[in-house]
Formats: sequence, C-alpha cells, structure tokens
Amino acid sequence: MTTRVEAVGSALLDLVMPRECVVCGAPGLAVCRSCERRLVSQPVVQGPGISRGDLTGADTCVPVRCAGWLTGDLDTVIRAWKDHGQRAIAHPLCRLLSGVIAADLSRNVNGHAPAAPRPVLTAIPATDRARWNRGEDIVDRLASLTARQLATNGVKAAHHQILRVTRTVADQRHLGAADRRENVRGVFAVRCAVQAPVVVIDDVVTTGATIHEGVAALTRAGMHVVAVVALAHTVMNGVGK
Ligand SMILES: [Zn+2]
Repeated sequence: MTTRVEAVGSALLDLVMPRECVVCGAPGLAVCRSCERRLVSQPVVQGPGISRGDLTGADTCVPVRCAGWLTGDLDTVIRAWKDHGQRAIAHPLCRLLSGVIAADLSRNVNGHAPAAPRPVLTAIPATDRARWNRGEDIVDRLASLTARQLATNGVKAAHHQILRVTRTVADQRHLGAADRRENVRGVFAVRCAVQAPVVVIDDVVTTGATIHEGVAALTRAGMHVVAVVALAHTVMNGVGK
C-alpha cells in the first residue's frame, strides 16, 4: 500500500501529467473506453449470500454481487485505484457498479413495480488508518459517484454514509475466515437510519466477514438491505480461475 504522501503525490500528478490506460497503455484516460467495455462485459460473480436468518428470524439471504473476479485486468484497475492513488479510476468503476446495480433492480421488477425503488447506496466505511493513508474514504466516494451515475441513467438512487467504524481492527490480509469474522465482530455502528431500501457498496469481497457485519448492523437498526454490490470477489482455493 502507498503512503499518504505517495497517494497525494500521485493524485497531484494526475492533474498535470498526460494519462495512459493502466491496462493497455493507450494515451488519454486512466482506463480507456475499450478496456472499460471489456470490464463491463464480464459476467457478474455471485458472492456468498448473507443470511438474514440469524439477524431477523426470516429465512432469506441478502444477495452479494461482484462485477467480476479479482484477477487480470479488473485486479490491475482496482490496484491502481486503491493502492497507487489513481483516483480518476473511480469514474469507470462507478459505471461498472451502476451497471450491476441497475441489472439487480431490474431483476426484481419482474413486470411489476421495482422491489427496491429509490435505493440508498451506503459504503462499508474505511478504517481511520485507510482513510489517512489514502487521504479520503475512497469506497464512500465511489458509492456517491455510483448513485449519481444511476441517476444519470434514469435510476433514482441516493447516497448516505450510514455506517461508522467503532474501533480499530487488525489488518485482515493475512487472517483466515474465522479470524476475520472475529476481527470485525461488532465493528460497525449506525450513524442514522434510513427508511429506503439499502444497497451496501464495497470494493473487494474475500470471505464476506466485513459485509456480514455491515449488513448485521444495518438490519439490527431496522433497515432493509436489498443487496451488497462490490467491484470484485477474491479468487480463493482455485475458485474463479
Ligand atoms: Zn485500455
């Protein structure tokens, strides 16, 4: 991961240096239109659904949908955005997410009124450490841009940062599934509840421990989470290769 100085430096360079596509090197955009089209055309990956059973007593699952596997070009693009300070990549990424969300909402339509009219998009919040390193909560910004992109495409959606982080957590990267679950247990609290259906936005889903905690906090506060939508799902145990 880059330091805060490197992240800010890279963001400043974005302003003065000609850009090239982080995937193919074509001059112009940080992700060229051709590479963006390839990312958009990838099949959506279904993550591990989050059972509401242990949260509300209802035997239903919150679907988890990712725009692709965290591999190849999508991995390159997400790393450039997250770890190398190329913040302009939030724009193609918000178009990627808005496509997944719009498809998800239309799946619920089924010839009738949408099941989730005017959803509120809310991000899994950054830890203080991540926000400091990157200079901002980049997933929250992505959620905000995605809501605007949906509105541009005729899908009414709002954005609120509903969740907050209540304590520090250990770096998850080297933890197994059980340790991750323990590491993030009870880590989120709700700032203010909303009445509208909620779509949770995250960057990368690995074991699902973090999004489970986010959905649990929202559900305990009486909110209805209709879906979790993320950029990518980590390839684990050879699955997805
Ligand atoms: Zn390209």
